[in-house]
Amino acid sequence: MSIELRGHHLLCLLGYRGKGYSDGFCANMTGIYERLRREPETEIRLIVGPDDVCAAFPSDQPSHCENASVYRKDSEIAGLIGMLPGDTRSWSAICEAVAARVRPDDVATLCRDCRWEPYGMCREGVAHIHAAADRRLRELPQP
Ligand code: SF4
Repeated sequence: MSIELRGHHLLCLLGYRGKGYSDGFCANMTGIYERLRREPETEIRLIVGPDDVCAAFPSDQPSHCENASVYRKDSEIAGLIGMLPGDTRSWSAICEAVAARVRPDDVATLCRDCRWEPYGMCREGVAHIHAAADRRLRELPQP
């Protein structure tokens, strides 16, 4: 079964370190992350708007999933990676495209309005994909 992702989550997954908006959000994100780490040939379908990550956003927090700034990131990040809405591609092919087309420093510009960007995890995630010969996601830190 394929996983549906919006554009900016292609990079968020690279930076994910097990932290997020709620326990439920992290459980879902960790499930997606671990599947992609263990089964990198999993098919990803690029969609517009709320996706399989947004599905677990906590209902008791202000949602940003429909904000214009988030759609802006979706469009710019997917475009840099070379995907259009409706495209399907394996996760491993997406990581190859990240290595070829996205620089770690691009995150500061692409994600200038994200609260997580100053922590540097997403830049590190892109740098890891550049350095990893097999283009595989890192293991998550132990909780
Ligand atoms: S900085 Fe924010 S939007 Fe950008 S990849 Fe990281 S978590 Fe996602």
